[in-house]
Amino acid sequence: MGPEVGQLEQCLSEFTGAKYAISCANGTDALHLVLRAKNIGPGDIVFVPSFTFAASAEAVKLVGATPYFVDVQEDTYNMDPSSLLSAIDYCKKNKLNAKCVMTVDLFGRPVDYNQINTIAQEHNLWVLADSAQGLGSEYDNKKSGCFADITTTSFFPAKPLGCYGDGGCIFTDDDELAQIIKSLRIHGKGTDKYDNIRIGTNSRLDTMQAAILLEKLKVFPAELGHRQKVAETYNKYLSDTVQTPVTSLTDNNLWIKSAWAQYTIVLPEFIERTKFMAELKQQGVPSMVYYIKPLHLQTAYKDCYSSSSMAVTEKLANRVISLPMDGYLELDKVECIAFKLTNLLESNIAII
Ligand SMILES: *Cc1c(COP(=O)(O)O)cnc(C)c1O
Repeated sequence: MGPEVGQLEQCLSEFTGAKYAISCANGTDALHLVLRAKNIGPGDIVFVPSFTFAASAEAVKLVGATPYFVDVQEDTYNMDPSSLLSAIDYCKKNKLNAKCVMTVDLFGRPVDYNQINTIAQEHNLWVLADSAQGLGSEYDNKKSGCFADITTTSFFPAKPLGCYGDGGCIFTDDDELAQIIKSLRIHGKGTDKYDNIRIGTNSRLDTMQAAILLEKLKVFPAELGHRQKVAETYNKYLSDTVQTPVTSLTDNNLWIKSAWAQYTIVLPEFIERTKFMAELKQQGVPSMVYYIKPLHLQTAYKDCYSSSSMAVTEKLANRVISLPMDGYLELDKVECIAFKLTNLLESNIAII
């Protein structure tokens, strides 16, 4: 907890517009600390999209609560409000204790928060935005950190703002909650440091990582701007052949800006993905699949609830690939990758 930690929290609060930025050890802890602070526990239900990284649901399990997996939208890859509504309905009918909606700004793209926040308010739920991939994104004149009641992020190197190891942060405007989270992250400390008032944990952000993040935050806006250009260039060359990610507007015509943690496309049905990726690799283009196995199908999450239809999640898991994306990738390389990819699609090499 050296001086850089406090400085970073101040800078992150200014950057996001959130009243409090509370750093912690990693993005998983950030989610876990919030759920602990909100007293989520056994018997409680938290809605989570199934198409996400395991940590989102893991944090729910860690506090003893139960994830309820909902489906995502075909074009944004984010939580589908209609799937959320039917999950809420199921909980009502079966007297399940629904408490929280955990949204995930997947690949850096903000969820349609006006819709999700409204649904949550109508049903007496609070919203936790897992913006591990979304720091730097914008939605309806707000920045990630201010989209929901509480937002968390991660500074793992693969995220838009990465440190050189692990780190995380929690954003909120809520005074009381901020005090509880600050206490929980350091062994449940009270005002007297020798009288711990609750059971907490050790989730300090390392001072060294804070110092690195302070420097990286200075170039972050420029990096985000470049990521946007990379995405636009890919879209320009790829949108005729594959499903490309939507860039700017929501269903309600609100302006949004992704942080482009990943640039993810959906391959046509007739393409054999593994073979296609191997061909791309041979031509010097690395690609990855995020996420190959939806959470509702994973062993550790078999006992959770899930929506009756997970069709979109399962389709995306079978067909998505993520292409090279970072704040420094040259645009002529992006063009070159796009040409290789379209040629490969047209060559019929990886047809099923
Ligand atoms: C990376 C990630 C996390 C966890 O962050 P860590 O810092 O790795 O613990 C949680 N949720 C999502 C969506 C992530 O991408």
